[in-house]
Amino acid sequence: MQKDHSNFPAVPSVTGLIHHPYIPPAGFEAPQPGVFKASTVYFPTVAAMRQREWKDKSAYTYGLHGTPTTYLLEERLSALEGGLQCMLVPSGLAALALVALAVLKTGDEVLIPDNAYGPNKALADGELRHFGITHRFYDPMDPDDLSRQITPSTRLVWLEAPGSVSMEFPDLPEMVRHCRERGVLCALDNTWGAGLAFKPFDLLGDGAGGQGSLAVDISAHALTKYPSGGGDVLMGSVITRDAALHLQIKLCHMRLGLGVAANDAETVLRSLPSIGLRYAAHDQTARALAAWWQTQPQCAQLMHPAFEGAPGHAHWQALCDREPGTGLAAGLFSVMIDARFSQAQVDAFCDGLKLFKIGYSWGGPVSLVVPYDIAAMRQAWPGHLKSGTLVRFSTGLESAQDLILDLHQAVQAHLPMA
Ligand SMILES: *Cc1c(COP(=O)(O)O)cnc(C)c1O
Repeated sequence: MQKDHSNFPAVPSVTGLIHHPYIPPAGFEAPQPGVFKASTVYFPTVAAMRQREWKDKSAYTYGLHGTPTTYLLEERLSALEGGLQCMLVPSGLAALALVALAVLKTGDEVLIPDNAYGPNKALADGELRHFGITHRFYDPMDPDDLSRQITPSTRLVWLEAPGSVSMEFPDLPEMVRHCRERGVLCALDNTWGAGLAFKPFDLLGDGAGGQGSLAVDISAHALTKYPSGGGDVLMGSVITRDAALHLQIKLCHMRLGLGVAANDAETVLRSLPSIGLRYAAHDQTARALAAWWQTQPQCAQLMHPAFEGAPGHAHWQALCDREPGTGLAAGLFSVMIDARFSQAQVDAFCDGLKLFKIGYSWGGPVSLVVPYDIAAMRQAWPGHLKSGTLVRFSTGLESAQDLILDLHQAVQAHLPMA
């Protein structure tokens, strides 16, 4: 039966409310920038809409393509990493995917370090493979292996320093040199360095991307980690110093619709001023814990790039510690628990920790622990890794002493030596 809509109560008019004439005075300044939220952005006239320049941040077109809030964050992140252009995306993994989709086409090949962030490998084996883009893994500790694997169809080389879980620090400048010589684009997943431990666009420390400097082409970064610092925001960035490459990435970004929410951008803007202090604090705590592990017989191998004997330590020194004793490292390290302990014992140790929570990601205030199955993650067991069960720790901002007491009690309870 047809409903009778004719005698609905009149809707009160809010036209005056929606088109209210009041405009607050310009010139408001405070420590934090305002948050601008929009899908629609107004143009004063149709002609202005048609002429609007969207490529260089001189104007606005649509919320998806940038607001004052996202422009501001992009500029600050570019400055932090020594880049010139930045695109924000909804996660660190989206940053890696954007790079791949922007520069690769059917028939191309991408080279990935065997110790790379796992989901980057999964993307290559999933969508990229379906699109007819091949991939191969290279030995991250052997720049010659990378060089050997570059063929005429190699279009992109991924770099990561250090590897996500096993923490080997590669000879980054040498690998970038190989890419330069062969004319292949190189993209660094710079989540660990965060623009603080080293400068991805000035690897020799002599030119900030200018003439004579050695630079990656692209720095991708999971802002989810240190720039957010809260364990509460997902975001990523893709930073470049080449206008044409940036435009290629920007067009792909537009076509994919990879916008970020203004409130999330604001959260990162709020955390950014303290990133230097937090990074140094995470680093200091991680080194205190790593030093403690070195004294424990349960530790077959310590994987922290700032420690003597750790895989790639000399490369970390050369890139990050040019004035010895001043180098930074993130709050991340792994321990190979001696092979005499079963997976179940190592799991019980992780479960037995009270301050360390079990969970992915890192960079927030809470310390985290995850055991990893290296055999399942690599093509072959790497020669430089001892046998055992790998456990990765990421330090939060708790007191190092409290964290060491926590490690001590869980080791005593679950990893007995006798
Ligand atoms: C966390 C992480 C990512 C992905 O970031 P999300 O925001 O979680 O998608 C990429 N690379 C590295 C090295 C990471 O640690």
